[in-house]
Amino acid sequence: MAYHIAQICLSGHVINDKADEFPQYNQNFCEICGKTTITTCQHCGSKIRGQLAVTWMAADVIQPYSRPAFCAQCGKPYQWTEAAIKAAEEAIELMDELEPDDKKRFKENISDIISQTPRTKVAAKLIKRFLDKVAPGTGELFRQTVINLTVEGVKQLIWPQLPPSSPQ
Ligand SMILES: [Zn+2]
Ligand SMILES: [Zn+2]
Repeated sequence: MAYHIAQICLSGHVINDKADEFPQYNQNFCEICGKTTITTCQHCGSKIRGQLAVTWMAADVIQPYSRPAFCAQCGKPYQWTEAAIKAAEEAIELMDELEPDDKKRFKENISDIISQTPRTKVAAKLIKRFLDKVAPGTGELFRQTVINLTVEGVKQLIWPQLPPSSPQ
């Protein structure tokens, strides 16, 4: 399968999911957040995967584009993923109900819910346990920072009240 190249801003706003085919829609900066846009991984320089390249006949069966969280060539998180992890860590710092050791453990489990690993489900259970101890407001802050990165099927383990495949 071949993919187009995507242009995405450093915050993660998708500017153009077919940057190679329709360069006229490319922008140097994001109009939502003002950040620089990129089409290549900042660690290894490989192209960011865009929309699936298909013939016009199959064009109406392709899925809506979703930006990758990690580079497929070097495995490092893209800058928008790093920014979300950092924001999630800051949200955890605000959880006054948790002991410093709990906060540390909570943070260590974030990476396992944003990529599918053998620990993903265990991490989700641990995170749910921590979230059950904190005030709804700070818990909600954490949810908003990571919900778009969280692996599908794991979201409901942490937030059972969420309807399946909710966009937010
Ligand atoms: Zn942006
Ligand atoms: Zn890379």
